[in-house]
Amino acid sequence: MAASHDDSSPTLRDQHGRWPWAESVEDFRRNLAAVQAGIVAACRRVGRDPAGVRVLPVSKTVDEERIRLSYAAGCRLLGENKVQEAYRKWNAMADLADLRWSVIGHLQTNKAKLVARFAAEFQALDSLHVAETLERRLQAEGRALDVLVQVNTSGESSKYGLQPKEVAAFLQALPAFSALRVRGFMTLALLSADAAQVRQCFVRLRELRDRLRQEAPDGIGLDELSMGMSGDYEIAIEEGATIVRVGQAIYGARSTPDAHYWPTAGTEEPHS
Ligand SMILES: *Cc1c(COP(=O)(O)O)cnc(C)c1O
Repeated sequence: MAASHDDSSPTLRDQHGRWPWAESVEDFRRNLAAVQAGIVAACRRVGRDPAGVRVLPVSKTVDEERIRLSYAAGCRLLGENKVQEAYRKWNAMADLADLRWSVIGHLQTNKAKLVARFAAEFQALDSLHVAETLERRLQAEGRALDVLVQVNTSGESSKYGLQPKEVAAFLQALPAFSALRVRGFMTLALLSADAAQVRQCFVRLRELRDRLRQEAPDGIGLDELSMGMSGDYEIAIEEGATIVRVGQAIYGARSTPDAHYWPTAGTEEPHS
């Protein structure tokens, strides 16, 4: 283990910089503890209370057996990018009564029905059409859903999410949807090795939130900032993240390229 003795990330990586594969409850405990140490360190650098940051473990591509190990290590709310994968896992693990699911990927309206049925949280709201469809389906199910509004802070036209300048008007329309409990914003930073550019995305989301908080309609909460993943969650916390969505640093390196989950400028869908 390459323990870091400086201020850099305590998150474990192997000699190739890859996150270690977790396949026992002990492995998960170790990885979760390392992420938690990273959270504490980032909070300390900027004078934040670590209690104000929650980890959303992201279990996409992870099979049922390993998800159950992570559950045994304490994970109770899991993030999934694709609705059908999440729905399948929810069904398969219905025996774990207190395991809840957060959908963090783009939603097509024809899958809103599934989300309304099983999800506890939806982090990628970015259109009124999706809001209307979810509202109708949630009313039918007699359920409510915590939602975050996804904002495109990277300026990449290929990324999902509202443009920052569209968000104020969007928020004004949301009180009409009583089954949607709006909690804040979510963003994906630029996928870049340039930490300054990544940080700028997080700053943009926080500043937008601070500005819109004054004028947000009654009942629209903007306390949550979901930003940061395995590679950049400490920067996100330094800039105000309250939720970090962490997959690989908990479950281990994932072979599926990120382009499979969100469009990346200049990157084609992988040929399998
Ligand atoms: C996969 C994913 C993450 C987590 O990425 P890791 O690199 O595994 O930490 C975060 N957010 C979204 C929207 C994702 O699809």
